[in-house]
Amino acid sequence: MSSANDKQTDWKDGFLFLGNQLVLDFLNTCPVQNGEPTELLQDFGALLGWFQAANLLRSREAANLQQRWGESSRARRVVKAMQELREKIRRDVLAWERGGPVHHSAAGELNRLMADHPMRTRLKTNENGSSTELYFEPRQPEDLFAPLAHSAAMLFANVDRKRVRKCDECVLHFHDTSKKGTRRWCSMLLCGNRQKVAAYADRQRLRRRRMTEKR
Ligand SMILES: [Zn+2]
Repeated sequence: MSSANDKQTDWKDGFLFLGNQLVLDFLNTCPVQNGEPTELLQDFGALLGWFQAANLLRSREAANLQQRWGESSRARRVVKAMQELREKIRRDVLAWERGGPVHHSAAGELNRLMADHPMRTRLKTNENGSSTELYFEPRQPEDLFAPLAHSAAMLFANVDRKRVRKCDECVLHFHDTSKKGTRRWCSMLLCGNRQKVAAYADRQRLRRRRMTEKR
């Protein structure tokens, strides 16, 4: 669900989706705002909210899961493990963006997660033909790892790392899908404008200095 307001702020239901890859949007659930890291996946409800905003769960599914597991210590452990996985993947993605290999330990952890919590495939048919679709079925709280581990593996295996980078100004990552491939900022609204305003102020300062020097 998006409103005109969301369009102006880049936020969707309290989360940012500007990474163009699920796993990068997942990394971006701890943005730094006003100098302070902001944890957006604070509890199981917030985690389900993110899954819903990412179109991985429908609202009714999310509500069911919250009712079923929301108060359990297992769900709390999953939230903590999810945050830890995010920070681990962040280190791996940063190193990989700079041209480094994906470490054996990182691959091992993703492989373990994908084996334990696999994405499932279904065949969809209609009058236009057939296609396959990946989906996941959370039968236990830990199954929420499925789409994230899968997306991380797909990123490392299939995406051109020269097109994946961190914003010039902040901690957010994105896959640059622009034609020219020169995207520098997470978004114009969040960092691009700020940067441009700062550059403009610098130019003004320089001009004023030159003018006083001329005098
Ligand atoms: Zn940024």
